[in-house]
Amino acid sequence: MAPATKSLRSYQSRRDFRATPEPKGRRVTCKKKLPVFVIQKHAARQLHYDLRLEIDGVLVSWALPKGPSLNPRQRRLAVRTENHPLEYAKFEGIIPEGQYGAGTVMVWDIGTYKNISERNGRTITARTALKNGEIKFTLKGKKLEGNFVLIRTDYGDKKGEQWLLIKMKDEQASARRNPVNTQKKSALTNRTMTQIKRDTTRKE
Ligand code: MN
Repeated sequence: MAPATKSLRSYQSRRDFRATPEPKGRRVTCKKKLPVFVIQKHAARQLHYDLRLEIDGVLVSWALPKGPSLNPRQRRLAVRTENHPLEYAKFEGIIPEGQYGAGTVMVWDIGTYKNISERNGRTITARTALKNGEIKFTLKGKKLEGNFVLIRTDYGDKKGEQWLLIKMKDEQASARRNPVNTQKKSALTNRTMTQIKRDTTRKE
C-alpha cells in the first residue's frame, strides 16, 4: 500500500526516535515559492538513492536502486517509499545498527523543483499528478538540473508502487555525463560517505 500523500504515520511507526538521530517530523505548511527536492545517498543493506519531492508539506519519497541518470534512454526504477518529514531534506549522518534503514545517509543533491505536470494541456498540481501516476518536474539542484518525469508502472503489492524516473530531453540531458559516478560528495557538506561515517562515529 502506498502511503497517503499527507501522512507521516508510516514513517514514524517504523522508527524508534530514542535510538535514531533522524527527525521525528511533523507536517508543515510551507510558504516558500518553490518546493524542495533532495536526493540522499543511503548505504543501507543495499546502497541506493532516495529521491524526495516536497508535496503538501511532506517529502514524498522513492528509492532508486541505481540513482538518477541524465540519459533519457535510461529508465531508472523508483520504488515509492513512506513520506518523510520536510526536515529530513537536510539529514546527513548515521542511522544506527538495528534501526530501520541502518547505515550512512548523505545529502547527495538538494535544491528546489518546479512542478510542470499537465493533463490534456492544462497544468495540474503535483498532488494530482502523483495520484494520476505521472509527475513532470524541473530540478534546480547543485548537481541535477532540467526536466524529469516519474511514471507509475505498477501499484505493486507489499513492495510498494513501482515507478520509473526518466530524464526528459533538454539541454541538461546527456548520454555521457554520469554525476552518480563523478560527483560523489555531499551537496551539503562536501564530505564523502566515509567522512560522514567517521565524523558521526567520532561525535558519539
Ligand atoms: Mn533509503
